[in-house]
Amino acid sequence: MSTRENRQFKLKSRPVGMVKRSDFEYVTSPAGEPGPGEVLVRVLYLSLDPAMRGWMNAGRSYIAPVGIGEVMRAGGIGRVVASKDASVAVGDTVAGMTGVQDYAILPASTVTKVDPRLAPLPRYLGALGMPGLTAYFGLLDIGKPQAGETVVVSAAAGAVGAVVGQIAKIKGCRVVGIAGGPEKCAYVVDELGFDAAVDYKKEDVQAALAKHAPKGIDVYFDNVGGAILDSVLALLAMRARVIICGAISQYNNPELIQGPRNYLSLLVNHALMEGFVVFHYAARYPEGMQALAGWAAQGKLKAREDVVEGLETFPDTLQKLFRGENFGKLVIKVADEG
Ligand code: NAP
Repeated sequence: MSTRENRQFKLKSRPVGMVKRSDFEYVTSPAGEPGPGEVLVRVLYLSLDPAMRGWMNAGRSYIAPVGIGEVMRAGGIGRVVASKDASVAVGDTVAGMTGVQDYAILPASTVTKVDPRLAPLPRYLGALGMPGLTAYFGLLDIGKPQAGETVVVSAAAGAVGAVVGQIAKIKGCRVVGIAGGPEKCAYVVDELGFDAAVDYKKEDVQAALAKHAPKGIDVYFDNVGGAILDSVLALLAMRARVIICGAISQYNNPELIQGPRNYLSLLVNHALMEGFVVFHYAARYPEGMQALAGWAAQGKLKAREDVVEGLETFPDTLQKLFRGENFGKLVIKVADEG
């Protein structure tokens, strides 16, 4: 029998406003053994995503809420330490919904093998994982960017936004990023090759965007919602496409969320606004992964991860996303790769 100890964060109460440590119970129990068709995974890295905040709320969404007393849901990368399924071997490195814990017992059919030789493992949780696929399908399927058009993306230095801007550049667009602070703005222009950046914490967003997008905004990839969405709506070009990917400025809002006030700009400009959830593209993930990996291999897709050490930091590390304290894809390192 295994003597592996499994530290877990279980949801204790539904957060009101910003998520807190006291919303979780931090417990240790034996890791257990996989049953037929299952694998036991030693978690190495955990993905911290803004969506986690929504998963803690009761009510209907695109996925069931995490139940009170359940291990907090999270994507992760880990190593298989026991397997009762012929398709997955001990020693394989896999991605899956591991949860916020040291060890996860998962159906073998739900894990995906990743190659540790091709990229650093945290990248499979960022540009080469769910956020990269979100950028790929949201921008290309809904935004349909054409060469010469102006594309604007918010949370531009983050996991999704950084990939959006680089794909838009690959497609021949003019790209303007919106990010918080001079370091992130310099990063998207100097390192990622965006044409311009707007520091929403310092600048008048609408005035700055009007300067950088003199012919109007053809495609807006919205990660933040709120006031920034309204500023962009005021500057749409004819036949613009607005992609609603996320609204992080509203996730901790305990009141009614702030919706778009400038939506009549859609009418005036014959524009379209469409939301999406990346999971609906699951059947096309191989296509997206191939494209992202290809661009990365050609040096056209750069990525940055913000790796925080220690499972025990989970609730505090999650808060970084909502304070803009992460720089790149936010990941917790749970254990050495060995
Ligand atoms: P991220 O951008 O790596 O991190 C979040 C960033 O959001 C922060 O670093 C911060 O950057 C910015 N932010 C936080 N609070 C803000 C506020 N009040 N106003 C403006 N910006 C704020 O996170 P990510 O994983 O790439 O996710 C980005 C968005 O995509 C989120 O809304 C997420 O929910 C969404 N998403 C959607 C899907 C889907 O299927 N639809 C899938 C994945 C992610 P600054 O320092 O620049 O403020």
